[in-house]
Amino acid sequence: MKPLEQLVRPNIWRLAPYSSARNEYSGRTARVFLDANENPYNAPFNRYPDPLQLEVKQRLSRVKGVSPEQIFLGNGSDEAIDLPYRCFCEPGKDNVVAIEPTYGMYKVCADINNVEYRPVLLDQNYQIEAARLLEACDANTKIIWICSPNNPTGNSIRREEIVSTIEQFQGLVIVDEAYIDFSSQKSLRAELGKYPNLIVLNTFSKAWGCAAIRLGMAFASKEIINIYNKVKYPYNVNQLTQQQALEALSDPYEVDRWVRMLLQERSRMIEAFKMLPICEKVYPTDANFFLCKMNNAQQTYDYLVDQGIIVRNRTRVQLCGNCLRVTIGTKTENNELLAALRCFRG
Ligand SMILES: *Cc1c(COP(=O)(O)O)cnc(C)c1O
Repeated sequence: MKPLEQLVRPNIWRLAPYSSARNEYSGRTARVFLDANENPYNAPFNRYPDPLQLEVKQRLSRVKGVSPEQIFLGNGSDEAIDLPYRCFCEPGKDNVVAIEPTYGMYKVCADINNVEYRPVLLDQNYQIEAARLLEACDANTKIIWICSPNNPTGNSIRREEIVSTIEQFQGLVIVDEAYIDFSSQKSLRAELGKYPNLIVLNTFSKAWGCAAIRLGMAFASKEIINIYNKVKYPYNVNQLTQQQALEALSDPYEVDRWVRMLLQERSRMIEAFKMLPICEKVYPTDANFFLCKMNNAQQTYDYLVDQGIIVRNRTRVQLCGNCLRVTIGTKTENNELLAALRCFRG
């Protein structure tokens, strides 16, 4: 890995961050707080939240096996996807490399930040070799994006290729593991000590069932997290979100129960789809959704919409012609989908 100073944008490296009242005095022992121009009435909403969300990070640290200083929390993974552009990529000069097809936000954030986005097409099995990602890089490539399990294909990218990319690339490799809790693969979080150029993303939106609270996580070296903390909005995670996260973290076994139910339903749905005459193929998945090739994805999609059932039409995505992406719901929801499809002749 290049020295961090060469990867960070010069203006960000030099940046003196905003110092909020809660940064300057973060102790808990004081009795009277007259430092932040807050209204003394309307508790508990009147006080600014902890800018570094230390209580949430301490609890999360135990669940994720990563120390609190190596955790960044953001307004959804969206913030954890946008921040690396703002921290590392000089607009109009630097570029990033990503697998294709993948989650759309990496490219949207590249476009917003005026950073060149270089997609590298997956093979027919939706896999990639490290060498092909590295070939797409040049001296101005700051980030390689790998989503695993990948959205919308559902499969995990082979670990040897991810590790080989991390080991050979001089910039940062961001592995988005939004769906890792549904996967039999091990998280790369455990490898953070070995790879200073690795950033791993997780989210509360999927297995944790908290998409509404908007809480995303990035795990990386202390040095990278410090740069994120300098650039993020001072109070980027609001108090209600922090409270709800603590509530969710107080019962992580609930998440395990949900995941087990969803994985059972996933197997059942995949078997049922394979039996449908209008379904050509179901792709292997490590996520809480599966991708399937239909005889006519658009027609099937439109029919389902008429029935009040919404799946994701991915037919216009590269390598996903005639494909639908189906999220695993409750048993009742899944049965409704199956019943509708069994009545549809196309
Ligand atoms: C759903 C999803 C996320 C989660 O995004 P949030 O902003 O945390 O809700 C992140 N990455 C991928 C690949 C996803 O599919």
